[in-house]
Amino acid sequence: MRIDFLTLFPELFKPFFETSIIKRAVSKKVVSLRVSNIRDFTLDKNYRVDDYPLGGGAGLVMKCQPILDCLKTVRKEESKVIYLSPKGQVFNQKMAKELSKEKHLILLCGHYEGIDERVLKQVNLEISLGDYILTGGELPAMVLADAVIRLLDGAISEDSLDIESFDNGLLEYPQYTFPRVYEGAEVPPILLCGNHEAIKKWRLKEQLKETMKKRPDLLVGRKYSKLELSLLKEIEKGEEEPAWYLEALEKGKKFLD
Ligand code: SAM
Repeated sequence: MRIDFLTLFPELFKPFFETSIIKRAVSKKVVSLRVSNIRDFTLDKNYRVDDYPLGGGAGLVMKCQPILDCLKTVRKEESKVIYLSPKGQVFNQKMAKELSKEKHLILLCGHYEGIDERVLKQVNLEISLGDYILTGGELPAMVLADAVIRLLDGAISEDSLDIESFDNGLLEYPQYTFPRVYEGAEVPPILLCGNHEAIKKWRLKEQLKETMKKRPDLLVGRKYSKLELSLLKEIEKGEEEPAWYLEALEKGKKFLD
């Protein structure tokens, strides 16, 4: 995949490109990233890229000409042009998955009061990060790119993508690492019992509990599997240690001691 960022502030992208998983994805050629400075395309003799809003009002509006000329240099037939905008569809994991199937994304970052509305004729999709106003589209573009890149083949290990929040319509289960006890707080013993089926079941139950507690909206209209329905019954009854759980601990005693 290739991702082009069109911005007035290219310097903001350097640390994003040169850190952690994104850096590795670039070096493994999973993705190619490029930034274009919209200002380089202005025909204004003073290098202006913005002007006062017609009809009055505060702030400055980014002009059509530099944006559209910049876009012409990077756009191809297969490109999907996305304008990051508070008026867009609110971004989520499903959208990230759909976008990860594209060959070429062009992410247009607005600034100041935004862009001249006539640019939107050249845009395929407007995406928002949420119902709040940011200074510019650069952070939303990086957030979108990050969510998409980690889904590309070879960016991270397949296992890491196996069960993540939102994947099966639920939040992820709680994660723990060593030590087993830290300042008196113990990790749930089931995670150390060596019984992978029981661990999977416990994690699914925790996913249900986590989602009910933190994002009940995700459960509206959700279809449950047989196993999920039986775990929901346990949750309703307040059964923290049902028979299958105790059995797994009993059998895994040697790992727990
Ligand atoms: N005047 C605009 C309005 O009220 O809708 C807000 C402009 S904002 C200060 C400048 C730029 O930041 C926008 O053009 C857009 O690219 C970006 N931006 C701000 N909030 C955003 C959000 N929630 N999601 C995506 N992009 C956002």
